[in-house]
Amino acid sequence: MIRSMEKKVFCFPRIGKYTPVFCDLLESLGLTVLPPPPITEQTAKLGVRHSADMMCYPFKITLGNFIEAIEAGANSLIMFDSRGRCRLRHYWVLHDLTLRRLGYKFQLYHVNFANILRLIKTFNPHLSYAAIVKSLGRGWAELKKVEGPWPELERRRVNIGLVGEIFTCLEPAINLDIEKRLKELGANVFNTVRISDFVKACLRLEAGEKRIYKRRAKTYLNGKLGGHGFENIYNTMYLADRGIDGLIHLLPLSCMPETTVEPILDKICLEHNIPLLRLPIDETRSEMNFETRLETFVDLIKRRKK
Ligand code: SF4
Repeated sequence: MIRSMEKKVFCFPRIGKYTPVFCDLLESLGLTVLPPPPITEQTAKLGVRHSADMMCYPFKITLGNFIEAIEAGANSLIMFDSRGRCRLRHYWVLHDLTLRRLGYKFQLYHVNFANILRLIKTFNPHLSYAAIVKSLGRGWAELKKVEGPWPELERRRVNIGLVGEIFTCLEPAINLDIEKRLKELGANVFNTVRISDFVKACLRLEAGEKRIYKRRAKTYLNGKLGGHGFENIYNTMYLADRGIDGLIHLLPLSCMPETTVEPILDKICLEHNIPLLRLPIDETRSEMNFETRLETFVDLIKRRKK
């Protein structure tokens, strides 16, 4: 526990292009923020060393990122609590337990959509609820700006869709900057994973979007799944109907929802004759192997298109 008089320095796990948006948001709420340290091999090593072997890779990376943040001066950690059905809802509990066992002094706050306003008020009691809502609204506008509009399909280029686990699809240090690599190979990339969609789904504000695909996706499942599993099914159907040329499924090894939807995505791609490349990712991934598989996949699609 940090001493009550000590100034709080907040940090959260890095998450790709969204990282500066969240830093700005916290600062606009009057908090002192330490930008999350970059994710490096050392981050992965730290996370792997202090996690259970079969724990999913995003847990290991976020743990390593927290260790580096504390060592860089953060004492107040913020972790998203999905309150969902997979391990993400337990990350903060395990982070807290592990970091304390390692002897670090800090306070960890788990944020979800039910407690966010109350928590911000605790961090900065001088802010009115109206001011908090205004800051959140500005943060939302920034987030949408960073995401930009959906790309259009381009007939002359290879159009490749990305589906998969949220952290793996959004953090370039984890996915070896897959979007940039694909673009360098000449592909037009549709990353279907967006934080704004995730927020809308959590707040049940997106019921009308892609409605037919969601209805069809439900026929494959025997109830709620958790993670991005359900989203990946309907996004794959959506991209298939739009004529995507190839699909990449990015998943951390041992990820429960992504492993569950594997045969479903296989079936949809087979029915639509869409080449599918599945890239499981963990700390043993090899950059060379990754690059070769991407190049081969894009070449194959280019040849099919001709
Ligand atoms: S979605 Fe997969 S990787 Fe993410 S927390 Fe759940 S099980 Fe782990």
